[in-house]
Amino acid sequence: MIDAAFIQRVQAIVGDAGLVTDTIDIEPYVRDWRGNYLGKTSLVVRPANTGEVADVVKLCAETGVPIVPQGGNTGMVGGGVPDSSGRAIIISLTRMNKIRSIDLANSAMTVEAGCILAAVQEAALRCERYFPLSLAAEGSCTIGGNLSTNAGGTAVLRFGNARDLVLGIEAVTPEGNIWHGLKALRKDNTGYDLKHLLMGAEGTLGIITAAVLKLFPKAQRTCTALVAVSDPAAAVELLATIQGAMGDRLTGFELMSRVCLDHVIKHFPETPEPFSARHAWQVLVELTDTMKDSPLEDTLSMALQPAFESGKAVDAVIATSEAQAQALWNMREHVPPAEKLQGRSVKHDISMPISTIAEFIQRGDAALNARFPQAQVICFGHIGDGNLHYNLSFPGMLPSAEQTRDANNIVYTLLDELAGSISAEHGLGQMKREEITKHKSRVELDMMRAIKAALDPKGIMNPGKVL
Ligand SMILES: Cc1cc2nc3c(=O)[nH]c(=O)nc-3n(C[C@H](O)[C@H](O)[C@H](O)COP(=O)(O)OP(=O)(O)OC[C@H]3O[C@@H](n4cnc5c(N)ncnc54)[C@H](O)[C@@H]3O)c2cc1C
Repeated sequence: MIDAAFIQRVQAIVGDAGLVTDTIDIEPYVRDWRGNYLGKTSLVVRPANTGEVADVVKLCAETGVPIVPQGGNTGMVGGGVPDSSGRAIIISLTRMNKIRSIDLANSAMTVEAGCILAAVQEAALRCERYFPLSLAAEGSCTIGGNLSTNAGGTAVLRFGNARDLVLGIEAVTPEGNIWHGLKALRKDNTGYDLKHLLMGAEGTLGIITAAVLKLFPKAQRTCTALVAVSDPAAAVELLATIQGAMGDRLTGFELMSRVCLDHVIKHFPETPEPFSARHAWQVLVELTDTMKDSPLEDTLSMALQPAFESGKAVDAVIATSEAQAQALWNMREHVPPAEKLQGRSVKHDISMPISTIAEFIQRGDAALNARFPQAQVICFGHIGDGNLHYNLSFPGMLPSAEQTRDANNIVYTLLDELAGSISAEHGLGQMKREEITKHKSRVELDMMRAIKAALDPKGIMNPGKVL
């Protein structure tokens, strides 16, 4: 347990402003966003700078106190909350929220790990640049959490995952040393690229304290459309058609089933019905261009023509104002909160080759409906990245442990067959830590364990997560 002497030593490093010890104040830090995990600690530390993080980590290394790094606590797999032993402390990076510098000539921005993602996006826009990472939790998730989970979101199709948006990072190692890796280089072939070890490590290899992020030219034209399609195969075909016609101008391509829309409209009644008829599947399409007079709508309409003629596209609305575009995005972004309000479901954040998505949905739906006739499949996601959120809801009841296990088996067995992944963007955390051992080879797991043992020999960084 964390004793009073330890807390006093931490207080000497971070002062009163950096300590949370009251049980009521600690509660939001130990409960995860979904309410699936409730951990225990008697100390949350909120350092004000990298030096304080390093000194606290050094103290933990000396005394063997485990550390759980935390950003906005919006993670989906219980990675940012401690276990129930009460042995670990939480280090929350949220006070470290400064934008340290912006280098426009180098199209780069250096930010502290506790910066809220939306604040980073806004800072980029203020200097006519664009930071493309975008997800529904952007108002509260932090850059440190985004990089540690290698977050995905809605613009991966064009700009890649979080790790693709980073030039350098600063981090504190599990021994409490500071790695000054804030280089803003686009080329640097000098051995192992360590930043890529820390990114996606979910806080198990060190604490990210700052990062140099890539900036991009700001789009001057945007076109947002919702297209109803006959089935997921038609959606995949449409993706290739639009990519062929518009190349990199296609920045978002999001699939939503009608079930998802029904939940959004039920729980957020201000959401308008997008079409006069109900359609089983729709895709949200976003096109952007840095050229002011780019004829995005016309090119999209032309690209859609063959799909309408073949019956694969059945209806479409193209937003004619920013407000309409925002309303379409709101619809998509309200899917996870609406699902949460609907009740607990068995969640799968999965990926597969785009060419197998239609087969996956068809076989997955058939197998789940046969095993659980009373349940409802909730399917949506970033299909332009081969990433589905493929969840199973049991109306009016909590899924039992047996139902969860059987649903996971059905989904993960099919994914193994199709060479997919059991975690596309949320990570492993506590939730998939054991499951992953069934899907990675021994060679791969041994390499991961060797890296963990080499960088964190005392095992104090976020124990019980990932491995
Ligand atoms: C409504 C909603 C929608 C979402 N949509 C998406 C989506 O589209 N795509 C997606 O990828 N994710 C999505 N997420 C999941 C979540 O927002 C992301 O995983 C996000 O990147 C987590 O950031 P955070 O600051 O909240 O991290 P936290 O939840 O605090 O932590 C996440 C993990 O990172 C570690 N960590 C946090 N900060 C640091 C640090 N500075 N150094 C080292 N380790 C650290 C934690 O220990 C934990 O393991 C969504 C979540 C919500 C609630």
